[in-house]
Amino acid sequence: MTGRVLIIDDDDEFLMMIRLLLSINSFDVDTANSGEEGLKKLDNSNYDLLLLDVMMPQMSGFEVLKKIRSDEKFIDLPVIMLTAKSEKEDVLEGISLGANDYITKPFETEILIAKMKGLIKLKQLQEELKQKNIILETLAITDGLTGAYNHRYFYKRLTEEFERARRYGTSLSLIMIDIDFFKKINDKYGHLIGDAVLADLAKLLRQNIRKHDVFARYGGEEFAIILPHTNYEGAKHEAERLRKAVENNKFAHVEKEGEVTISLGCVSYPDASAEKPEDLVRFADSALYTAKNSGRNNVKFYKIQ
Ligand code: GH3
Ligand code: MG
Ligand code: MG
Repeated sequence: MTGRVLIIDDDDEFLMMIRLLLSINSFDVDTANSGEEGLKKLDNSNYDLLLLDVMMPQMSGFEVLKKIRSDEKFIDLPVIMLTAKSEKEDVLEGISLGANDYITKPFETEILIAKMKGLIKLKQLQEELKQKNIILETLAITDGLTGAYNHRYFYKRLTEEFERARRYGTSLSLIMIDIDFFKKINDKYGHLIGDAVLADLAKLLRQNIRKHDVFARYGGEEFAIILPHTNYEGAKHEAERLRKAVENNKFAHVEKEGEVTISLGCVSYPDASAEKPEDLVRFADSALYTAKNSGRNNVKFYKIQ
């Protein structure tokens, strides 16, 4: 099938003729004989292209076009205007209202079909490009091994969340996480299994955070979690939950439970008087350092130790 087309025209004979003509040329054709009916059909179905008559008794083609182009859903729908005679004003108005092309009745079939195919192809390419852009945008903010947000995105969000917390006086917490003795895991099982442990750990942590938390790989075997609108109690609760989840997890290829553990350093704003987002990282890091020195596999807070 070449594409699904809706034709809006008040002339029933013309509709019959063009339906036949386009069907022969393997288009999937639907018709409406008024602007109102056409808009209803557009709402209820998906089309690749619209052929739109300008001169119609109740709602003109221009009015239909205005409605279509003001609706986010149809912003990319290709539209070819059908004009009775090549009136320059009609053509200009149609184009300025967002028509992609026009054709004058009576028309040459080959030209109409060439225009239709060209616009449908263009729309497909634009859609593919959009999809690719979505993939690229996702890749640009994601860490490849763990699927967590990357370092750059972490700082972008931390900056935004810090500004928000400061402006509205809301709380904001940050948890920095470091795997305990990860070197030993690498030495014992090899780097490939070490990588798998990192990926599994990221998955486990992600399952144990809340929807609005931002989970990122800070670097190496360190992760960071931004907790918007979360105070000391909330962060403490979450950090402890994460610590336990890791301790009690049996990682694939790792001999026993409890062999992989994490230390967590936390900070809550405004309890800790940070002036800039980097301060929060520094404070959480210092709490993490304390957690490491207090035997590892535990949670420490900056200031409120
Ligand atoms: P601790 O943090 O408890 O002090 O000990 P540690 O052994 O985890 O500390 P250290 O920071 O000295 O070592 C971190 C190790 O993590 C060293 C590095 O090879 C390993 N590592 C970092 N990134 C990756 C990675 O992507 N894959 C693997 N397999 N290992 C990684
Ligand atoms: Mg480390
Ligand atoms: Mg470590």
